[in-house]
Amino acid sequence: MPGFEFVGREEFAEIKDIFDHGGILFRHGFDALRQGRYKCEEFEVAFANRMNVPKALAVSSGSAALRVALAGLNIGPGDEVITQAFTFVATAEAIIEAGAQPVIAEINQTLNLDPQDLEKKITPKTKAVIVVHMLGVPAQMSEILAIAKHYGIAVIEDTAWGCGGSYLGAPLGTLGDIGTYSFDFAKTMTTGEGGMLVFKDLQVAARARAYHDHGHENNPALPRWEDSRSGSGFNYRMSELQGAVGLAQLKKLDDVVKAQREQYDLLASVISQFDDLQMRTVPTGSEITADALVFFTKSSEQALALREALLSVGFGTKILPEAVSWHFAGTWDHMPSLVNKHGNLKTAFPTSKQLLSRAVALPILAKLPEGTDQKVQQALSKVITTCHALI
Ligand SMILES: *Cc1c(COP(=O)(O)O)cnc(C)c1O
Repeated sequence: MPGFEFVGREEFAEIKDIFDHGGILFRHGFDALRQGRYKCEEFEVAFANRMNVPKALAVSSGSAALRVALAGLNIGPGDEVITQAFTFVATAEAIIEAGAQPVIAEINQTLNLDPQDLEKKITPKTKAVIVVHMLGVPAQMSEILAIAKHYGIAVIEDTAWGCGGSYLGAPLGTLGDIGTYSFDFAKTMTTGEGGMLVFKDLQVAARARAYHDHGHENNPALPRWEDSRSGSGFNYRMSELQGAVGLAQLKKLDDVVKAQREQYDLLASVISQFDDLQMRTVPTGSEITADALVFFTKSSEQALALREALLSVGFGTKILPEAVSWHFAGTWDHMPSLVNKHGNLKTAFPTSKQLLSRAVALPILAKLPEGTDQKVQQALSKVITTCHALI
């Protein structure tokens, strides 16, 4: 979560560098005025290097990154795209914006995509799966990649929470065909608003790049106003201001994740003292980003009581249990295409609903105040003792 905790002098210096050298805030053109400053381009190259991929594309948000990813894979009307019941609305919205049909699969104890349910939901119309590393824990990528390969469908990793994590040694976002990232203000690294895509296939990368810029191919042989194009697109460009901030934030990413993991370990040792509480399952081979710590309680009543107790000592929860509605497909009856596909959403994803109702997420900051672990310990023991007394 805490990119915002580290916005400071370094980000400002990158922005000042733009203003000291022509003040060009657009990523294209103005070549003479900008004195060699191309912040978005530089950010893309640095990000691709960090993630060990050939190409990256900076865009205006993580939601835009998902939309552009679908365009890069030529996904549109008549196609189905599977994603998981526990994710932010943006994942489903991007599929709808592409004109495709979202199909929701259940999650399992990892709180990410259940590979078995993924396989059940595949039809001849399925073109891709968007797997989400929700709250910084990697999905079961080995199983998911094997299924996708078997059925010939593309894999997009919604890495909004997974930036800086890895699975079997590979950075999250680089295991599938396309990885998408969000740099909104609540994410591990932030540009205020912003996003990124990483690609393996250069043709897919070129199609996505053109789509995010009205179809512009940025043909070096032509001036921009006469540029070549092979399809229409839209404007999902990142501005130079965001690119500048991103350059500085990327340099801090590994330290942020390291600091989060230290805080996570401290709180995890508190959770382990309670028999009633069970940690979320983390797939083997995972390096989590430790954005949040999620554990299961005995019942939804206990989850709600724990939230109240944590609030009473000045420590909130994150998404679970209080804000699940923006993050659980079972509540999205404002999306007609989901209702058409799945019928009554309230009963459509029973496993996910059951798991989420018992889950509590503790927000992790890199700089949690001293004594937070003791506060959390006190709050938890208050509720858990009460529950035992009732039995
Ligand atoms: C934050 C988020 C997004 C969207 O990113 P924005 O930059 O806010 O548009 C997409 N998917 C998931 C899972 C997210 O958490």
